[in-house]
Amino acid sequence: MTNAILLIEDEPDIREMLTFSLERAGYEVWPAETAEQALTLLEGPLPSIVLIDWMLPGMSGIELARRLRRDEHTASLPLIMLTARGEESDKLQGFDIGVDDYVVKPFSPRELLARIKALARRTGQPDDGVLKHGRLVLDLTAHRLAINEHPVSIGPTEFRLLELLMLNPDRVFDRSQLLDRVWGRSVYVEERTVDVHILRLRKVLKPFNLDHLVETVRGVGYRYVRENPG
Ligand code: CA
Repeated sequence: MTNAILLIEDEPDIREMLTFSLERAGYEVWPAETAEQALTLLEGPLPSIVLIDWMLPGMSGIELARRLRRDEHTASLPLIMLTARGEESDKLQGFDIGVDDYVVKPFSPRELLARIKALARRTGQPDDGVLKHGRLVLDLTAHRLAINEHPVSIGPTEFRLLELLMLNPDRVFDRSQLLDRVWGRSVYVEERTVDVHILRLRKVLKPFNLDHLVETVRGVGYRYVRENPG
């Protein structure tokens, strides 16, 4: 999970134009030309939103969406289809397999951005790319952590761990889920590595007496609890 958008579009002009506008709006863009390329990218850390062109050479956009929904690893990724078709039956087919939204070409980057933001809100992602929980502020765009309004130094892996945990408060993650989501499935990392980075994350929070926010759930894994207000 990052502030990244995976964009699958085979037409270079549209891909470049969208990459430019989305980057200007503060997103990190991972461009892919084909569904096959996108599937390879998705073996790594997951993006926060996926934009899929319907008509792609090789595997079609709708087939890609279907695959993502069927795979536990990617099933809950927010998906927007980009399409030249406006036919009602296509739209229904898209919604039927669990596509979250549908943008018909030609569309303006501004319209697409509005849809992305609306979808991010619906799926509980921060609107402005900034996660705020009490004294903890995580800026997903600038990759910065601040506590009590002071910048705090944090490693890239600890940052991604904290981001995933803060986006899913109270949810327990086991070690293999954390490996999948933070490191990605393409790398082989021992489960013990997760414990090492959780320890480092607690060390970052400890000077502020916030290390208890990352709880160990005995025999299962880890969970983030929100700080009690006041
Ligand atoms: Ca196309």
